[in-house]
Amino acid sequence: MLAPVFLRELGQSVAVLKGAGKAVAERLARLGVYTVADLLLRYPRDYDDRSIFIPFSRFAQEARVHTVATVLSHEWFGFGRMRTLKIRVSDGSGAAVLVCFNRAFLETSLPVGSQVLVTGRFSFRYGEIQSSAFEAERLDAEGGGKQGILPVYALTDGLAQGTVRRLAKHALAEYGSRIEEELPATLAARRGLLGKREALGGVHFPPSQSVLEKARLSLIFEELFYFQLAVARRAMRRKEAAVPRSPVRGLLKSRLVERLPFRLTTDQLTASAEIAADMGAPRPMARLLQGDVGSGKTLVAFLACLDAIEAGGQAALMAPTELLARQHAATAARHLEPLGIRLAFLSGNVEDAARAPLLAALKAGEVDLVLGTQALFSEEVEYRKLRLAVVDEQHRFGVLQRLALGRKGPLPDLLMMTATPIPRTLALTVFGDLELSSILTMPPGRKTVITHLAKAGNEQKVYEFVRGLLARGRQAYFVYPLIGESERSTGASIELKNAEAMAMRLRAEVFPEYKVGLIHSRLKEEEKRRTMDSFAGGQTQVLVATSVVEVGVDVPNAAAMVIEHAERFGLAALHQLRGRVGRGTEQSYCFLVYSDGLTEDAKARLKALLGTTDGFALAEEDLRIRGPGELAGTAQSGYLRLTIADPVRDAKILEEARTEAFALIEADPGLLAAENAVIREVLKRANPFGEAAAQN
Ligand code: ADP
Ligand code: MG
Repeated sequence: MLAPVFLRELGQSVAVLKGAGKAVAERLARLGVYTVADLLLRYPRDYDDRSIFIPFSRFAQEARVHTVATVLSHEWFGFGRMRTLKIRVSDGSGAAVLVCFNRAFLETSLPVGSQVLVTGRFSFRYGEIQSSAFEAERLDAEGGGKQGILPVYALTDGLAQGTVRRLAKHALAEYGSRIEEELPATLAARRGLLGKREALGGVHFPPSQSVLEKARLSLIFEELFYFQLAVARRAMRRKEAAVPRSPVRGLLKSRLVERLPFRLTTDQLTASAEIAADMGAPRPMARLLQGDVGSGKTLVAFLACLDAIEAGGQAALMAPTELLARQHAATAARHLEPLGIRLAFLSGNVEDAARAPLLAALKAGEVDLVLGTQALFSEEVEYRKLRLAVVDEQHRFGVLQRLALGRKGPLPDLLMMTATPIPRTLALTVFGDLELSSILTMPPGRKTVITHLAKAGNEQKVYEFVRGLLARGRQAYFVYPLIGESERSTGASIELKNAEAMAMRLRAEVFPEYKVGLIHSRLKEEEKRRTMDSFAGGQTQVLVATSVVEVGVDVPNAAAMVIEHAERFGLAALHQLRGRVGRGTEQSYCFLVYSDGLTEDAKARLKALLGTTDGFALAEEDLRIRGPGELAGTAQSGYLRLTIADPVRDAKILEEARTEAFALIEADPGLLAAENAVIREVLKRANPFGEAAAQN
């Protein structure tokens, strides 16, 4: 008897399985399947429930036909190597033709008069119901037709569904009995989960829908449990990393608040208090500040910076683009310089001559708050006492930057800000052990942006409306999907407008009496800055742009956002763009100009945008439209390596797994209890999230 192993430890090459020749092994390798474990961990992407029969007569209404038919005749068409067999069949509801490309052998295996089980997608072509993508098996042949629920695996060229099914079956028969449990027995029992072997069998070859359901649930729970266990352990380690704290009375903060021309909203105050409490606790903070566009996150971040500075430390605020970093620097100059805070700006574009003294000042502790781009955390930059790192719009940076942050000296407090609302489920998954503060309400006096759809061809009316706003002293953005002529859009069937050409047209023909600026990513930073300053200062009334203005730009006097070819932008981007207006107290407008031939998804996006301005609702809608698969896919390519769980679809199980994992780590941080020995072993021998844990 062979020793028991964890599923992931089944390292035998797939080539040892019966029926896996060299060619098959090569094709499996293309799918990343080398070992028996790889094979069994590739769970079916779908199932074909053949207990339900669908006759030929319903080929048009259903996704596929599944029926028992009699072979009526064999016919051949074409010549030479192209000679192809056509098998005519009938199931009583109607007749159909099986077009057997490269499957001449069916002539002998499906003789005239035999009963066959036919499954496939049929369509009406050349005057008959036919299919070339079908499976057909003789019912009276040995082994019979495959009934019940069949697994459907993701394939690659030349790899047949039947082959993978057969291999999976062999693998389970051969090695299944050796596979060990990976969860503590008490936990599995409490959750009513199937044993590992049973779950694995149930998910590959389900005897019934209810077993399939239970098997999937068991595997999903197990996977999410281990994922959350890694998160819990990380959180624990951070809690244990003690940092010395000097007491802070919040004097600088009070002075800033006193000088503000408005009062902080309740949510801003709450978020600020949460952050202050975190920064006073003897462990490094890791907090996500989430608030819709325009909710006033920047001020909350500045308040946190002031606490760090009052404690004798330095603070750094990083933005995703130079444009945004400069804007933050300008805001900081307005609000913080009067308090005597020493500010600096650093980006990749700061010239060497200015750079050296700046770096020296940072190192000497002569700068209190530095604002900039990623350059803030590059190798050359040394801080005397970095206490707080603020990262604006962190979703643009991903995990890498978090890594960079963690590497430099002792961990600073970390505050990430995002306006792209992250559904709670996803926040938990991707950010795991981040604490969350949310600003849900907008500053008072804001009016909801009024959104209109306009069909391409009617944009003159939109331009006229904007002219009215300009006449009243307001400003407007015009956004286009492309920068210039040279930028060819791939696969676009219509001519797309571009920012360069439209800037010229708007300047010459539409708004000749106003100043029209142009901004996009290909311009020099210097030029971008001048253009932006001129718009922010009101000297430029119309700003033509690409999606560079998507994030963070704050010009409260802008009252119109016109997005042409709106169908080309994603929902999150559209929401961000719309968030550039409605930042003042006057009524603002957003016009979504769309072209003919909208896809269903594009239609859904525009409709969602028309229906609500609530970023949280839109984020959930975005998930729904794009489907969880895509997001989970992103997560996978990032640092999660999930094989069966989908953090969005399985949100409820994720929560439960999280609760269990955190409780377990709380109760037994060292995993010393006898019943947790299995976890210890899994982490030691086959830890699926080992690398992920190290990355964070
Ligand atoms: P975001 O959360 O999108 O980063 P900002 O921090 O850019 O939002 O703030 C948007 C605008 O709202 C800024 O002009 C800011 O000065 C203003 N603002 C922030 N807080 C308040 C408040 N409590 N009352 C009124 N205006 C505020
Ligand atoms: Mg912002």
